[in-house]
Amino acid sequence: MTTFGFTLHATDGAARTGAIATPRGTIRTPAFMPVGTAGTVKAMLPESVAATGADILLGNTYHLMLRPGAERVARLGGLHAFMHWDKPILTDSGGFQVMSLSGLRKMSEDGVAFRSHIDGSTHMLSPERSMEIQRLLGSDIVMCFDECPALPASEAEVARAMRLSMRWAERSKAAFGDRPGHALFGIMQGGVTRELREESARALTAIGFDGYAVGGLAVGEGQEAMFGVLDYATGFLPEDRPRYLMGVGKPDDIVGAVARGIDMMDCVLPSRSGRTGQAFTRRGVVNIKNARHADDPRPLDEHCSCPACRNYSRAYLHHVFRAQEILSSMLLTWHNLHYFQELMAGMRAAIAEGRFAAWQAAFHAKRAEGDIDPL
Ligand SMILES: [Zn+2]
Repeated sequence: MTTFGFTLHATDGAARTGAIATPRGTIRTPAFMPVGTAGTVKAMLPESVAATGADILLGNTYHLMLRPGAERVARLGGLHAFMHWDKPILTDSGGFQVMSLSGLRKMSEDGVAFRSHIDGSTHMLSPERSMEIQRLLGSDIVMCFDECPALPASEAEVARAMRLSMRWAERSKAAFGDRPGHALFGIMQGGVTRELREESARALTAIGFDGYAVGGLAVGEGQEAMFGVLDYATGFLPEDRPRYLMGVGKPDDIVGAVARGIDMMDCVLPSRSGRTGQAFTRRGVVNIKNARHADDPRPLDEHCSCPACRNYSRAYLHHVFRAQEILSSMLLTWHNLHYFQELMAGMRAAIAEGRFAAWQAAFHAKRAEGDIDPL
């Protein structure tokens, strides 16, 4: 059986390309993970998600534990069988969403007691329970249970949450145990304070994880502050383990993160934006709801090979969006996920060939041109 492992193939500046081996398949890095919140990437069949080039999906522990419930998923064969996705799945720990979505939380050293945002029922999440849920789901890459403080937060509050998260990381590791073929990632916290980030990285590497995430970013601090942290934070992490930036992001965030040594990312943006009529293209964001597209027979992007661009005009995409047809969400989500995967493939090739700086310059130049002129 393939065990979990990470191989670095090439570096170009701080940017890296490589591969994560798992028993369920290889994840080419830098990798973008579409988000399948409740056991589905909204508006997409799993085989369509795979066709966009995704090697791995993200599932949300918080959502799945509440509905349909981790024990039920386990009885039905685990999340891969349940949702018909046989490639790797990474699950988050539930920590971030319990803070952002649930009601009536009670935090303690032990964990978080909370009420479900769906039916008000009471639940408990702790490092041990989070590990158990992620095991029941059958996740290939399991995330440590952590606390990400809501912004704005004082440095003292960020430090307190980080140190609690480090104690929880130790408990997560103990509860995870020895599971060949499965990986456990630690999560660095510490906000935008260099000393706290370094302290967090030291604590995590002392415990020892299969990979390391940079948490607590993309929570409203802005791109400049996020890049500022990444400029030093990736250097605190071991070179021979994958580095995962959680919850990022827009295409230019992703490119900037890869340039700073990040290997994995996830974001709801391509799928969520697809449902609101926003398409990501090499020339920037296109709002398909705009009237300028109503009579436009050209594809969204003539160079894109996704079904939305190959088979349909801007006029048709505009029409199905305005008519609130389900196909609108399906086509635009497919296009957006395809675009994000092409972006990652382009970066992987450029890093492997030592031309990442030129690739980045071309990426920014094409976006600066803006969308094609109206007819
Ligand atoms: Zn397309």
